[in-house]
Amino acid sequence: MTQSPTDRPVLVLNAGSSSLKYQLVVPESGEVRAAGLVERIGESGSDVADHSGALEAMRAQLQDAGIRLDEVPLRAVGHRVVHGGPDFSEPVVIDDGVLDRIKSLSALAPLHNPAAVIGIEAARKRYDVPHVAIFDTAFFSSLPTEASTYAVPRDLAAKHSIRRYGFHGTSHQFVAHATAELLDRPVEDLRQVILHLGNGCSASAVRSGRAVETSMGLTPLQGLVMGTRSGDVDPGLHAYLAREAGMSLDEIDTLLNKKSGVLGLSGVNDFRELVERVEAGDDDARLAFDVFVHRLKHYVGAYLAILGGADVLVFTAGIGQHSAPVRAAVAEGLGELGISIDDALNEAGSTEARVISPFGSRVVVAVVPTNEELAIARQTADLVG
Ligand code: ADP
Repeated sequence: MTQSPTDRPVLVLNAGSSSLKYQLVVPESGEVRAAGLVERIGESGSDVADHSGALEAMRAQLQDAGIRLDEVPLRAVGHRVVHGGPDFSEPVVIDDGVLDRIKSLSALAPLHNPAAVIGIEAARKRYDVPHVAIFDTAFFSSLPTEASTYAVPRDLAAKHSIRRYGFHGTSHQFVAHATAELLDRPVEDLRQVILHLGNGCSASAVRSGRAVETSMGLTPLQGLVMGTRSGDVDPGLHAYLAREAGMSLDEIDTLLNKKSGVLGLSGVNDFRELVERVEAGDDDARLAFDVFVHRLKHYVGAYLAILGGADVLVFTAGIGQHSAPVRAAVAEGLGELGISIDDALNEAGSTEARVISPFGSRVVVAVVPTNEELAIARQTADLVG
């Protein structure tokens, strides 16, 4: 039996420094044929020495699930790449030149891009199909200059590609369109404030389907409070810590990326655990929750001003989709701005996209599940035809 092209799945790969997430997805139907994770790549005592070994481990996992990857008529492989730098504002088919340019962006994203490069190299050797790079920054290449520009000398910024890039773009873009579908309105008619709250957290302001502001910047450290990242701090903190605490730049970078945020304030970074501790009366957990919510309100207010009002406020990703207390706390006191939540709708357990504001609200508040893998699969399929 011959298969039509639309039956053929895309292999979506998301390579981190020590992990590889994968999904085998049919882009048109959204059918997930398989999904999994290879962890502890390159760690001592692990069976998986490198990303080539991780692809072998993925093949073995799929075989255990009854899928012989070598016999699957793959349409393409879609790779998530965190930083597209100034060069990439669209998905791109990977050739040697593209790979070299992605490598050259590693200075901008030392925690992320090197792993993607190694993953791409290993996958290209194994799978003789088109490989496509999908950049987390691409959706935000539309930011107006006044939003993307840091107020630092222009020649220095130009020399080192310093600007606000924004991240989680694949998710924000997917959710912007999924929200328009939920509301049965053209995306062109909507002003949206989107809160992507997962392990990393970011907010965006989207007008007519185009991003006009976002909370992350040159790196994914700026903006909201996150599981282990501080988000916004006074830029003077670096010099202060260097002088007063004798810390090196690498130590400060690690402090702000890996030991701060909700973890730094409360000792836990998993939001479920944080909320349990808040409910049990833990003061540190309460403070972390309150700081997290305060920063969110700060950005919601800013984006209402940027957009001149909003039609919809959207919550997505792990915390956004599942934490009713966070959603309630963000909306609390915003009635004057047209934002309110219906408690019963907010607390109803559901995995579907849904509206949680009272009927007739000026600003619709919605919970819309993100699906970055499906978005990557679709963009990959669109590009390779
Ligand atoms: P990633 O950014 O790695 O894709 P997710 O979008 O899965 O992460 O979000 C992970 C976060 O979502 C974690 O902080 C986790 O505790 C939180 N989370 C997941 N489920 C719930 C829940 N039921 N209630 C509150 N938080 C949740």
